[in-house]
Amino acid sequence: MSLRIVKTAFAVASLFPLFACSAHWSYQGATSPEHWGELSQEFQTCQSGKNQSPIDIDNIVTAHLTPFSNHYHESPALLINNGHTLQANFINNLNTIELAGIVSHLQQFHFHAPSEHTLHGKHAPLEMHLVHTSAKGDITVVAVLFETGAANRELAALWQHLPTRGGSTALTAQHIDMAALLPRDKTYWRFSGSLTTPPCSEGVTWLVMKQPLTLSPQQLDAFKSALGHANNRPTQQLYGRLVVE
Ligand SMILES: [Zn+2]
Repeated sequence: MSLRIVKTAFAVASLFPLFACSAHWSYQGATSPEHWGELSQEFQTCQSGKNQSPIDIDNIVTAHLTPFSNHYHESPALLINNGHTLQANFINNLNTIELAGIVSHLQQFHFHAPSEHTLHGKHAPLEMHLVHTSAKGDITVVAVLFETGAANRELAALWQHLPTRGGSTALTAQHIDMAALLPRDKTYWRFSGSLTTPPCSEGVTWLVMKQPLTLSPQQLDAFKSALGHANNRPTQQLYGRLVVE
């Protein structure tokens, strides 16, 4: 692993808003989600926003959405424990999705346990967020829910050297087959929302895949103990937004 590659990956990661580090926030105590809006001027949208994520997926409007196409490849990734989540940053920029003619590049993906989105009020044990940006800077997040069951091969490769301390990183030795981290059935629920972490910026397009993937109970435990705490923001009010499929 060359230092240059690592430096490039960090430079790319630091451009991304999820990495912006201002006021301290967390999932517990005085800096937990219900206080995010009070922690900093920059975080006000967390409290005042009317298009906040995550949400409970319950009333769904049928709109015959067009499927998105993905161009995902085997890609080396740098796995970072930033204290809020375990996040994989890419060293290349080759993975894309295309939705209604707009191409968006996969910047990073990370996990929440339990899930942030709920389906008819129920959490899944794990949720993965694949964060894409278009040339215009618009953000599309593809969310994949995981149930416990058979072990997941890609997670096994990605998590074989789990960084267990905040701030620690591991370059994944094996390439991750990104296409295998999407369910076979590409149907999804779509709605407009926000980043689920401060600064909770809105204007994010959410696509939550209907078909879940599985991970083993051991894999789930390994993730939870590497992070050391739950990292899901509670579901937010819809304020008239629609969930379409
Ligand atoms: Zn997330």
